[in-house]
Amino acid sequence: MKLIAFEVRDDEREIFGQLSAEFGWETELVEEILTLDNAERVRGYDGVTILGHSLLTPEIQDKLMEMGISCCSTRTVGYDHIDVQHARKIGLRICNSDYPPTGVADYTIMLMLMVLRHYKQALWRGQVNDYSLKGLRGRELHDLTIGVVGTGRIGKAVIQNLSGFGSKILAYDVHKDPEVAEKAQYVDLETIYRESDVISLHTPLNDSTLYMINRDTLARMKDGVVLVNCARGELMDVEALIWGIENHKIGALALDVIEGESGIYHRDRRTDILQNKNMAYLRQFPNTVMTQHLAFYTDTAVASMVRCAFEGIASFTSGQPCRTEIK
Ligand code: NAD
Repeated sequence: MKLIAFEVRDDEREIFGQLSAEFGWETELVEEILTLDNAERVRGYDGVTILGHSLLTPEIQDKLMEMGISCCSTRTVGYDHIDVQHARKIGLRICNSDYPPTGVADYTIMLMLMVLRHYKQALWRGQVNDYSLKGLRGRELHDLTIGVVGTGRIGKAVIQNLSGFGSKILAYDVHKDPEVAEKAQYVDLETIYRESDVISLHTPLNDSTLYMINRDTLARMKDGVVLVNCARGELMDVEALIWGIENHKIGALALDVIEGESGIYHRDRRTDILQNKNMAYLRQFPNTVMTQHLAFYTDTAVASMVRCAFEGIASFTSGQPCRTEIK
């Protein structure tokens, strides 16, 4: 078996090496993204794997098929970069990856604690030998009501984590999970907005969740509410967030994701002229913590994503059902 991997990051190389040995495959690792210009490189391989910057457009898919490739894996959970309908039409089989929800859940708690304990300001002060305490008095998770919106894999793991802190946990989801109900109280969304000191979002982005946090919903929340988003940027209207901070409606914001991040995050942009003004403006507030969509990024998750590529391609080429096939 011969596999060609595009967009390979340095931190994936060792895992590719280990899995190539385990599966007995010959694997070529390519740093560049897959494009029409380099698609000829796939000739002679049995499968292709990519990350999210390689756009699997209809043209590239047709080219892959022409080169004899019939299956492709993306080492990402999302697959917005793949024209899945075209793949289905031409018979190119696609699979994605998954990893345990615990890494994102841990990160969510870390962000919550960072803003509740004013960690950004403490860090700034420490850098210049300002060891004063004024303005750094924090709040304890134990004393707070936390509203978790979306109790799927990650939301449920966040609730599991929170239960150890002794917080009062409110939950909302369109589907109730009996295991979650043992640790949190399911309520309607209005109650979450009205009663929560901290609201953490864990839903997918869809028509019902787009801009779920907006001027209207903010108005129904407690003054000084803390908002945490480790899900998708577009769940929150960034203009409304700025309004909320400027008007002291929002007490603190912790965002691993932000509207308009696409094409910016996961690259060194120090010398680029970035166009996302809202992102820059929001970042400078003392009570916002923003990270570059990295909640998922742990050794466990990276190993799992590369393993999914091997397992997916192995299933496709051996005619077995593939657990992670995008149908
Ligand atoms: P999941 O599918 O397991 O759970 C999502 C839950 O949201 C489901 O229980 C679903 O019923 C619920 N839901 C859907 N629409 C809803 C609505 N309108 N109101 C309330 N609940 C609704 O997904 P997951 O794996 O737990 O992922 C959650 C989010 O985290 C997704 O947006 C995902 O893209 C994001 N994510 C972010 C990172 C990161 O690095 N920041 C990593 C992985 C996943």
